[in-house]
Amino acid sequence: VPDTKEFDFLIVGSGIAGASLADTLAASASVALIEAEDQPGYHATGRSAALFAPNYGSAPFRALARASAQFLRQPPADFSARPLVLARGSLNVARSEQLPQLETAAAEIRARGGRIDALTPQQARALIPPLRLEVIAGATYEPDVLDIDVAALLQGYLRRGRARGVTLLRGERVAGARRQGERWRVQLRAGELHGRVLVNAAGAWADAFAVSCGVRPLGLRPLRRTAAVIDAPAGMDVNAWPALFDIDEQFYVKPDAGRLLISPADEEPLPAGDVYADDLMVAVAVDRIQQALDLEVRRVAHSWAGLRTFARDRDPVIGFDPELPGFFWLCGQGGYGIQTAAAAAALAASLAQREGVPPALAAEGLDAAQVDPARLR
Ligand SMILES: Cc1cc2nc3c(=O)[nH]c(=O)nc-3n(C[C@H](O)[C@H](O)[C@H](O)COP(=O)(O)OP(=O)(O)OC[C@H]3O[C@@H](n4cnc5c(N)ncnc54)[C@H](O)[C@@H]3O)c2cc1C
Repeated sequence: VPDTKEFDFLIVGSGIAGASLADTLAASASVALIEAEDQPGYHATGRSAALFAPNYGSAPFRALARASAQFLRQPPADFSARPLVLARGSLNVARSEQLPQLETAAAEIRARGGRIDALTPQQARALIPPLRLEVIAGATYEPDVLDIDVAALLQGYLRRGRARGVTLLRGERVAGARRQGERWRVQLRAGELHGRVLVNAAGAWADAFAVSCGVRPLGLRPLRRTAAVIDAPAGMDVNAWPALFDIDEQFYVKPDAGRLLISPADEEPLPAGDVYADDLMVAVAVDRIQQALDLEVRRVAHSWAGLRTFARDRDPVIGFDPELPGFFWLCGQGGYGIQTAAAAAALAASLAQREGVPPALAAEGLDAAQVDPARLR
């Protein structure tokens, strides 16, 4: 039961989005962070591939990722006992008919000042020995791709947030909110809370939560993505492999604690909920990976799925609702919510306090109009 019922900010959803914003706002405001599950991060945040890939996604997502890199590489000393990121690198491969896509993608990344090197198939196989030279016609390598320790990042935000006074309420599904005068009222089992600003960080539930507050939905779409872990090829140490992507994102593979995380990079629209891996999609991943890599998959150690939630233009949604005062959206993170959380939280905190785009993000070319929920109405 919270000590007070009056807060500056009520944040609904404690995935990486809500947790990072709560911590950031708590430096100068009072914050309650409300999570339906007992475990923060139980949904999309706990199910990701944990990659930082700064050339991935639309321009605003790439700007947010670039602006998050410094925090991930050098977090404040008290934030996490473990490093938040480790070097990984990524290899993009193309069959002969995909070579134009490989070249176009590399040219675009270079034109934007990103780092990417062309490799011969033989050089690519020196990095990932089971690559099938008979199907790989070309490859590129991105050195700036990192592994993220998602648990350390989320726990860092929750721990520092608590130290800054964030009130975290778990196991409390917010069924709606009412605006009275200048304040929002939320009824919980723990009692009624009041807040000046209500933040929607409800991930796949963001539209449903908005509707329950009398706010019109934005047409966000949760898309299921499947992942599985398989054993490494017998006798092979895979820990130093880069992540491996098909250039058309038909599959990806990355080392995962001595085994391999695989995904068919699927995007199936589903209603918000606790989603599970479909055996057929796991089989599709295994099949696509065996076409590119000479390895025998004897056993799938475990599989899971999560929802990546996108706005229809696949850009982030960060800002006040254009119609209902004091209702703030922080959602539509798609497949980039972990790698962009640090800068997205800084941007959201600034906009939610009616300040502009932080200078570090403006320097990366981010404009508030690109992420404004109003563009979706
Ligand atoms: C297979 C897969 C691979 C991915 N790989 C990467 C990657 O490599 N790199 C990357 O950056 N991103 C990746 N992502 C995307 C990333 O996981 C998401 O963008 C991110 O986790 C979204 O965070 P969130 O906090 O918005 O959502 P969530 O973590 O889903 O959090 C939303 C929370 O809101 C809560 N909630 C909802 N409604 C209510 C309510 N009414 N009351 C109280 N609480 C409520 C939910 O319980 C949930 O905990 C991947 C995703 C998947 C599924």
